[in-house]
Amino acid sequence: MPSDLLVEGALLDADGGRAGYALFRQGNLAETGVLGTASPGRGVRRIRGIVVPSPVNGHTHLGDAVATREPPHTPIAEIVRPPDGYKFKLLQETPAPAKRRAMRAALERMAREGVYATLDFREEGVPGVEMLRAAARGLPIRAVALGRPLRRPLEAPEVEALLDVADGIGLSAIGEEPRSVRAEVAAACRRRGKRYALHASESHREDPAEYLDPRPDLLVHLAEATPADLSEVARAEVTVAVCPRSNALFGRRPDLGEFARRGVRTILGTDNAMFHSPSIWRELEFAYVTGRLMKRPVPAEFLFRAAFVEPYRWLGEPDRARLAPGSPVQPLVFRLPPDDPEYQIVTRATAQLMVRPGTAGQVR
Ligand SMILES: [Zn+2]
Repeated sequence: MPSDLLVEGALLDADGGRAGYALFRQGNLAETGVLGTASPGRGVRRIRGIVVPSPVNGHTHLGDAVATREPPHTPIAEIVRPPDGYKFKLLQETPAPAKRRAMRAALERMAREGVYATLDFREEGVPGVEMLRAAARGLPIRAVALGRPLRRPLEAPEVEALLDVADGIGLSAIGEEPRSVRAEVAAACRRRGKRYALHASESHREDPAEYLDPRPDLLVHLAEATPADLSEVARAEVTVAVCPRSNALFGRRPDLGEFARRGVRTILGTDNAMFHSPSIWRELEFAYVTGRLMKRPVPAEFLFRAAFVEPYRWLGEPDRARLAPGSPVQPLVFRLPPDDPEYQIVTRATAQLMVRPGTAGQVR
């Protein structure tokens, strides 16, 4: 039987940070309120800390978790370009059970670290998505699968079969996928009420007139986008997943402060599991610290929203980013000083500082 828990300190969610308390009964959020007004009764454990919703990992390629060695020192394109880049050869050579195990281990890690969902680009067609679904079975984390059809030119039956099992389609970039392919994929996704996503301006600048046509539901990277490009993306109200650690590995430095100033709807992802652990906590700290390093600081509040608020807007489930009794997402509790809670969560949160409100307090 889990004991009841009173957290006094700060509540931080879609409405911002505020002093307050959260009372968990049987592991579930039962009550929130103004600091100093809680009357929890006897036998309740009390701690000081910060309460947040569960974060979302905004961009992964979990299939890449089969690679466990130092990534080669080559340009990113040589590694990830379909159909014959290093990662695609590796995926081809690895038996399905090994890939499934690697994906499951990555998902388990994210679940342990309190992540509610991951938006995963799953290559390898229909079998690739089915592999991810099998890997995620029974785990307390939601895998949003953006699959990728194998055949070019596209074949409608494959695209339809993919949309039967996936949440949408995630393509490489305009250099690999001509407009005709993008248009057909976008139209098929729209018809089926699913999402169309695309990488853009990762290692060199691409023209927003191209990658915004047809309009994607999600862009990934924009590391080489100009400020004017970012304004155009913001005007189109297209959400962008940024992956600063992955970009850094190949010498790219997205200016997230500029994303914030231009009003780009931004979410944060950990990208290829062959480059980095899928830890949203490491990504948050890295994003903040490298902004200071580059003398292009990014507000902690912006990064907080990129991991905890904007993904839920993208999923069409904004209430999951609010701390409220009966909320559909289990909140996380961190033993951290409650002053300046955005800064604390972005730069100092780790899974080791997470307190589970009770055995029923697993995510989801
Ligand atoms: Zn990617």
